[in-house]
Amino acid sequence: MLVVGGGINGAAIARAAALGGHRVLLVEQGDLGHATSSASTKLIHGGLRYLEQFEFKLVRESLKERAVMLRIAPHLVSPLEFLIPYDATLRPWPMLRAGLLLYDLLAVGGALPRSRAVRADAGGGRSVRALSYWDARVDDARLVVLNALDAAEHGGAVRTRTRLTRARRDSAGWVAQLADCSGGASEVVAAAIVNAAGPWVSETLNDVFGAAGRSSLRLVRGSHIVLPRLYPDERARLLQQKDGRIVFLIPYQDDFTLVGTTDIPAVEPGDSEPTPAEIAYLLGAANAYLGSHYGEISIVWRFGGVRALYDDGSANPSKVTRDYHLELSGDPPLLSVFGGKVTTARHLADEVLDRLGLAPGDTAAHPLPGGECGPAVAFAAACETRWPFLPAGTVRRMAHAYGSRTSTLLGDAVTIGDLGHDFGHGLFEREVTYLHRVEWARNAEDILWRRTKLGLRFTAEEAARLDGHLRELEA
Ligand SMILES: Cc1cc2nc3c(=O)[nH]c(=O)nc-3n(C[C@H](O)[C@H](O)[C@H](O)COP(=O)(O)OP(=O)(O)OC[C@H]3O[C@@H](n4cnc5c(N)ncnc54)[C@H](O)[C@@H]3O)c2cc1C
Repeated sequence: MLVVGGGINGAAIARAAALGGHRVLLVEQGDLGHATSSASTKLIHGGLRYLEQFEFKLVRESLKERAVMLRIAPHLVSPLEFLIPYDATLRPWPMLRAGLLLYDLLAVGGALPRSRAVRADAGGGRSVRALSYWDARVDDARLVVLNALDAAEHGGAVRTRTRLTRARRDSAGWVAQLADCSGGASEVVAAAIVNAAGPWVSETLNDVFGAAGRSSLRLVRGSHIVLPRLYPDERARLLQQKDGRIVFLIPYQDDFTLVGTTDIPAVEPGDSEPTPAEIAYLLGAANAYLGSHYGEISIVWRFGGVRALYDDGSANPSKVTRDYHLELSGDPPLLSVFGGKVTTARHLADEVLDRLGLAPGDTAAHPLPGGECGPAVAFAAACETRWPFLPAGTVRRMAHAYGSRTSTLLGDAVTIGDLGHDFGHGLFEREVTYLHRVEWARNAEDILWRRTKLGLRFTAEEAARLDGHLRELEA
């Protein structure tokens, strides 16, 4: 099987195929997860707001997946408490309460606490009536890499910076032409192709397969900003907006707060740059709640992502279904993936295999690489004891990123000097070598913005030094 697109969907499909014992090749034209799958709100969630759109099946499935992901990737997926501050001019209290009771009910059997009424600190010493509920957060880009790694460790092949340029059916099956970033071209024969090109799914159908792309694909951009930490506690906020939308404030990477998202029509698959209007909207939402005056100057990072949604005819981009849609055609088969969520990628992957008449492996029981570590907080504390010479923040970061594989990485190190050159902010040569050798990292951006989020801390000069080192490793 050839899988096109190394976002979360393609990587999860490659993993399901490899765990099922099938021969699979995953090709990604850039870095793993470089597109929509590293630009999400980073939640593994049921999607509370989809209840308003009566998407009960999607919410139930997503909540089941939340429980699976907490189990198979406890290092990367962690429970997170959310507060919904009450605003008497917006959704009535009984409606919020009923929505959360339904959410609790749909999550039954999951391990997270139930919702309850609480008080929340808003800015300026104000305390407001609020509701608390639980969901989970994830490092989205690392989730993609760990799916690809699991596929590779179970016999799958992964080629990054490799683009599928053309595919035709002949008597042997699909004959697919691949182009890599160094100008190299190659041909592979596959019994089936899965088009998991995300926002490029329609373009790929047109340009690669010469098939009619779907006009019913809706491209919707969502943007986020990262600000210095906005408040001391570890609970996220779900802020209702006057236009009916919601904006999350999510404690992020210890020292920051992630604010998102918007929902506006995008023109092209690569149309991911946040606009000034989106930035102003997000800053406005955070400032209105906190009574603060953060401006553009405070923004540490901004990013946008394009959702490829299956068009269900909704006029409002926020209301287009977030459920996925699979389209299977011809023999040998071509299966195209439309839409989906990070949360449901594993389930989607199982269904893709099923639609192709192949048995997936036991994707819900088999831990993702490093996922044998058990509860992450206790594991991180054990790591701090085992490698006391490293700053606590660095060991915690590594424990969450690599789980039980932290010991493969740090292993026998007994002093900081054993970890090689210090690139800054807790990134040492040994980790860089590992990321290059094992996790397909090729340049500083891959490491600073996807394998880690140290890009939030690195200066341009430090990043350039890291890039120089990776160029040497590549040579
Ligand atoms: C703003 C925003 C917030 C979101 N928040 C959440 C959230 O909190 N939780 C959640 O569960 N979901 C969330 N989602 C949804 C989720 O991010 C997406 O559903 C998911 O990332 C889609 O993954 P994908 O693999 O389909 O697409 P992508 O990640 O875009 O991957 C497609 C890949 O295909 C590659 N490709 C394209 N053409 C070719 C070719 N010819 N050859 C080789 N490679 C090719 C591209 O380079 C790309 O990497 C959010 C989405 C957005 C936009």
